[in-house]
Amino acid sequence: MYYYLDNLSKIWHRGGELQAVDYRIPEEIVEEVRLRSDIVDTISEYVRLQRKGKNYLGLCPFHAEKTPSFTVTPDKQIFYCFGCHTGGNVFSFLMKKENWNFVETVEHLAQKHGIVLPEKELSPREKEQQTRRRRWEEIHDWATGYFHEVLLHRPEGEPGRQYFQQRGMDEETIKQFRLGYAPDRWDGLLEALSARGVSPQELAQAGLALERDQSEGRSRGFYDRFRKRVIFAILDSRHKTVGFGGRVLDHSTPKYLNSPETAFFNKGHHLYGMHRAHQGIREHGFALLAEGYMDVIALQKAGFKNAVASLGTALTRDQAKLIHRYTGRVVVVYDSDQAGTQATLRAGELLQDMGFRVDILRLSGAKDPDEYLKTFGVEEFNKALAQAEPYIQFKYQVHVQTKPTLSAPEKAELVRELAPDIVKVQSPVEREGYERFLSLELGLTLDRVQEEIAGFDRKPSKKASGEELFRNKQDISVKNRDNINRCANPTPSGASVPDGVIRAERVLLRLLLEQLIPVSELKDQWVEGFWKVAYHQQIFDYIEKARCIGNGALSSMESGPLQSKVAQIMLEDMELANPQRLFHDCMKQIHSMSEEETVEELQARMVELEKSGDLTGALALLKEIGERLRSGEK
Ligand SMILES: [Zn+2]
Repeated sequence: MYYYLDNLSKIWHRGGELQAVDYRIPEEIVEEVRLRSDIVDTISEYVRLQRKGKNYLGLCPFHAEKTPSFTVTPDKQIFYCFGCHTGGNVFSFLMKKENWNFVETVEHLAQKHGIVLPEKELSPREKEQQTRRRRWEEIHDWATGYFHEVLLHRPEGEPGRQYFQQRGMDEETIKQFRLGYAPDRWDGLLEALSARGVSPQELAQAGLALERDQSEGRSRGFYDRFRKRVIFAILDSRHKTVGFGGRVLDHSTPKYLNSPETAFFNKGHHLYGMHRAHQGIREHGFALLAEGYMDVIALQKAGFKNAVASLGTALTRDQAKLIHRYTGRVVVVYDSDQAGTQATLRAGELLQDMGFRVDILRLSGAKDPDEYLKTFGVEEFNKALAQAEPYIQFKYQVHVQTKPTLSAPEKAELVRELAPDIVKVQSPVEREGYERFLSLELGLTLDRVQEEIAGFDRKPSKKASGEELFRNKQDISVKNRDNINRCANPTPSGASVPDGVIRAERVLLRLLLEQLIPVSELKDQWVEGFWKVAYHQQIFDYIEKARCIGNGALSSMESGPLQSKVAQIMLEDMELANPQRLFHDCMKQIHSMSEEETVEELQARMVELEKSGDLTGALALLKEIGERLRSGEK
């Protein structure tokens, strides 16, 4: 049996920071890695754990909480959060925390514990892909070296040297960021790399050269893409060049030119400055998101090694995910002009939507962080940083900027404008903070503000404006959340299940998972549709199929909601001293419950469901009642 992820080759093609080939690791190696990786040791690197009885407790890294509900059990080598119901084993913890795929996670742990993984066996297509990628990386590395060398040492690099000197860059910074200069000629890079055996066609495939347009009757040939520009090498967290950004020195256009998108480069998947920021973000506990290359360099030079920038585009979800590998908090520090404000609102909304804590740093007296640092210095920047305001308050400020006084309808409009952001806030304390902020700012009572926002939470007002679409989207997501809550224990038929049966089923699954009762014993008393809770059926299917259960139960299970459910069952407080007796009690309870419910009881339950609005459940019961009556049962 092998473990692999189908979509790995897709990730490869996307050319982002997530790169891997389809790779299978033998099961016994995966098991060895799991056995050697103690879950308490591993999680302790991320969460401060305190021993409590046979478990460890800590503050959950997957949701915000003040009292610990995140539990790690060394005997079972699993974790489970009683707050957000996330659970799993050492692999799923790292996959979730680091945003790694399964193979990356096993590789990381194997390396840590000195376990040698077998050589990757690649298909011919994968081998070819890997060869192409290595060549692509090699060419980019040589090109970076060429631009850098021109900037530092060659006479034709003089304009670049002047540019960076004027911007206050010292040689150390130039080296740290591998900055470069593309000279004012058509074949600088072509010539330099042909000496290393790179053909013009290869350079064109890598996006660094262009083929001359034949239709204009000029001679055949290729020319450099980057000319007469300072060059910013885009380095990923492995310090490998994945692309370039080039900036003109005069007023010609385009001001910035990026590497084109290729199989191995998608600018929406990378952030400038990441080669240093992946450590800096961890150290600072947040990412500083700027707009430009020079901002990142200036910020990192000033000690903010957590600074990154999107590559001349609006922030993308993939870039946000890249940040999320290292932190859940972002401070946005974009340009202070109108365009920068609009971009800040967009980035803030995206980040907030993805669950980040987002603060906005507005700089006054300078157009961007680079200029601010030069004008006012690091100390002033730090003071400003301490004053960064939450995204929702920033959005409020932007709205009131143009209107110093607001009429009553305008106040109501403004509260409704911010309501979609406020209802999204998970923490009730934080939410009330915003409601209080609005009540103070607008001179309204807290009750009225909360009423207005709560009204929005339930039923958005119909309005034929552009924002209606946005509000409806919001409404749907709130509704979905309710549905998910209601269906916490959905049954295969859709009817609700008595608590006693749910409990008995969970105990049975625990007995099976801990191998206290063999699966065959349950199968002896088997009837079709035995499991009344859909999740339990799925877990049982899994137990039946899986070879290894017990403490290894989770290792071969794909991480996801089902795995969290298993972790929950494994961690529940149950008295398991007498498994046989427990087994018989549970079976008795399940059988009696499903047999003894009379038609009258079913009808009563149906009415209850109808009242609670669960029409699907009520209909399922109605069907059952009908069938019983037809078959002559009472
Ligand atoms: Zn949690």
